[in-house]
Amino acid sequence: ATPMSIMVATGRGAQAGVLIRDAEALERFSKVDALVIDKTGTLTEGKPALTDVVALAGAEAEVLALAAALERGSEHPLAEAIVAGAEARGLGLQEVEHFEAVTGHGVTGRVGGRDVALGNAALMAVLGVDTRSLQGRISALQAEGKTAMVLAEGGRALGLIAVADRVKDGAAEAIRELQGLGLRIVMATGDARATAEAVARQTGIDEVEAEVTPEDKQALVERLQGEGLSVAMAGDGVNDAPALAAADVGIAMGTGADVAVESAGFTLVKGDLSGILRARRLAEGTMRNIR
Ligand code: ADP
Ligand code: MG
Repeated sequence: ATPMSIMVATGRGAQAGVLIRDAEALERFSKVDALVIDKTGTLTEGKPALTDVVALAGAEAEVLALAAALERGSEHPLAEAIVAGAEARGLGLQEVEHFEAVTGHGVTGRVGGRDVALGNAALMAVLGVDTRSLQGRISALQAEGKTAMVLAEGGRALGLIAVADRVKDGAAEAIRELQGLGLRIVMATGDARATAEAVARQTGIDEVEAEVTPEDKQALVERLQGEGLSVAMAGDGVNDAPALAAADVGIAMGTGADVAVESAGFTLVKGDLSGILRARRLAEGTMRNIR
């Protein structure tokens, strides 16, 4: 592309909140065949809110207060939702000791002298907590697109906490148009399969990789590249920095982590998914000029 056409594309992009790193990013994006897209914070707002508290023994308030006290140690969006939910219900939160975050799985620590854990089924399996009797309730929450977490104490489940994150306005439309341009779209998320599939249905995505780690997201990008595809990855940098770096084109949600923005070819300032479509059109337009 000519320096002039690149300058024009860069200017048009900036006006629409699409920051383009350089000419190479434009050129590469015009050739991309597949888009791997993160769920939390990319397809969804990334601002989950507390929706359900289920107590198996004792009071709901106790379950929520323990969960929220634990989450005070975490910076995960799920943690913020749980703490905010507890505060909104006027619950006083105790201090957490020996706090540990288990990346992509949950949190553990001691609250009021009780060793408790909050997280997904994989974390509960590691801790030897039997969740079979809860599976029906967990599945029902997940079918609504909610993220369900189990609160456990010493190998015993005390309750369930669920949070929901809204799908971004215009997400389904942006996905449909990108599919219309011939892009293969794959959702990748650390969240549970049933939750991921509910969000995939809402956004019209038919390929889903759920319960994946940040390394799995990177491996997915590399697997698609191994199939001969040129791959873009869109994410907010929370859990997907390695995949963003491995992709032929990284698309960072400007609302996410700074590391994402640094390695990305494109940054969507408003985190608006129509920006991906706009970036693709700018890339194709610029490249068409030189052919
Ligand atoms: P995503 O890829 O959707 O951003 P993560 O990889 O961060 O999700 O997390 C995967 C799953 O691990 C979550 O859906 C949740 O069940 C569990 N989890 C992660 N962090 C926490 C936390 N701080 N508290 C409770 N559960 C958590
Ligand atoms: Mg994320």
